[in-house]
Amino acid sequence: MITAVYRVPLRTRFRGIDVRDGVLVRGPAGWGEFSPFWDYDVAESRRWWAAAVESAVEGWPAPLRTSVPVNVTVPAVDAARAHAIVSASGCRTAKVKVAESGQTSADDLARVEAVRDALGPGGAIRVDANAAWDVDTAVARIKELDRVGLEYVEQPCATLEELVALRRLIDVRVAADEVVRRADDPLRVDLREACDVVVLKVQPLGGVRAALRVAEAHGLPCVVSSALESSVGIAAGVALAAALPELPFACGLATVALFTEDVSSTPLLPVGGHLPVLRPEPDRLEAVAADPETDARWRARLAAVRG
Ligand SMILES: [Mg+2]
Repeated sequence: MITAVYRVPLRTRFRGIDVRDGVLVRGPAGWGEFSPFWDYDVAESRRWWAAAVESAVEGWPAPLRTSVPVNVTVPAVDAARAHAIVSASGCRTAKVKVAESGQTSADDLARVEAVRDALGPGGAIRVDANAAWDVDTAVARIKELDRVGLEYVEQPCATLEELVALRRLIDVRVAADEVVRRADDPLRVDLREACDVVVLKVQPLGGVRAALRVAEAHGLPCVVSSALESSVGIAAGVALAAALPELPFACGLATVALFTEDVSSTPLLPVGGHLPVLRPEPDRLEAVAADPETDARWRARLAAVRG
């Protein structure tokens, strides 16, 4: 299998990282991406590898749509920057990171207020706390942030039990992300009472087909999001969104905008709030090639996961 290691700086620190890197693999069906974050161990990375193999060897189920609606993703930036990011995006839905360590509730409120101002009253705003809050903090923060009107709050607390307790105390919909994708078996997590929406991510769930099975198992509305991949990995997310029987929410797949550059000269960036259902060719592999040290780290990781 042909492989290439990429490394691209991000425009803004996101999820605690400043640089994104990963391996692209080419098989008979096209290119796939293997890019588990560095805090994922070998066991957890195996599902990410299965997703890359599916993309490269098997390909994806037939699409049911030709484009998918996407949200603009707003990192934990200041209010002025948040306003500019949303205004420039052309998207009608924004996903806003909140609860960043070192920031205050006032920072979060200022950010979502700026996003509401940029979107206008007709836009949708969702926030993602990445499991940062306990139940009491979540209740207080969500009530405050919901002043701007929230579509849902993603993974406000870490555990299923906390999500169940929180959901009884707030009116805003709850979306489950980490509690599903980091579970030993995402099919068997008991989401009843814990959430209203399930976040699906192709690599952490082990591929497009595996994610479709997760959607079917839970019978809840789904949102497809990225794991901050290059356009090669994003194309798999788009394929999942295009194959879901129902797609009631905009997808979190416009994250190539967070990269300073992409593996493809035709990156999967939204036009009019939508991404087309297609697979960009990674024709910029030399321009984004990783340094030898990063390259060696990825090849060792790949060998461990495949071994
Ligand atoms: Mg999330």
